[in-house]
Amino acid sequence: MIDSLYKHQTIDNKQLALPAGKVVCIGRNYLDHIRELGNEIPEQALLFIKPSTSLVALDKPLQLPVGLGECHNELELALLIKSPITKGTPIVLSELIWGLGLGLDLTLRDLQSSLKGQGHPWERAKAFDNACPITPFIPLSEFEDVNNLVFTLTVNDQPRQQGCTANMMRSIESLLTEITACFTLLPGDIVLTGTPAGVGVLNSGDKLALTLTNRYKFGCEFI
Ligand code: ZN
Repeated sequence: MIDSLYKHQTIDNKQLALPAGKVVCIGRNYLDHIRELGNEIPEQALLFIKPSTSLVALDKPLQLPVGLGECHNELELALLIKSPITKGTPIVLSELIWGLGLGLDLTLRDLQSSLKGQGHPWERAKAFDNACPITPFIPLSEFEDVNNLVFTLTVNDQPRQQGCTANMMRSIESLLTEITACFTLLPGDIVLTGTPAGVGVLNSGDKLALTLTNRYKFGCEFI
């Protein structure tokens, strides 16, 4: 079911005036994840887009796709864009990013592998309704260094992913430059900055706990 009511939220439960836009995703930005799937290191950032209809608030029970093979977690730092960024826009994070949150780049891995094998785009595996559960956003000014943030995911209390943005192959600034060399980012768009290692199967009944630094904690359950 499409969650047409999705709106960006702040960490103190206020609704943001920014519209829910596209979600620009980076593939293969952490070496440990490239290795776990046996992928090549990309020369250019690997970009793909989830539509706004993939967004769903992460604070309520979430439905997994049924009958489409394995659905994997990919926990990623999410940037909420507040000003237009186009080719040549000076990348000053405080002027361009409203804040940070965490997103799950849900991926139908069996389907993606089949699409990759055929050389086809990945939308069927990555862009379905509710394919991007997203936390509320924390103002950028709350973070000292966006390129040195630790984030974690546990599934049923078992550690599954731990990432640090210091280990990204491309910094936040480089990603924004490279993305906007291709297309414009608008206020309300989200950038997911890539997953570290630890992707794995999600099952109904799984309870997830997410942390961003040791200050921000989120949880959700799959039904
Ligand atoms: Zn991803």
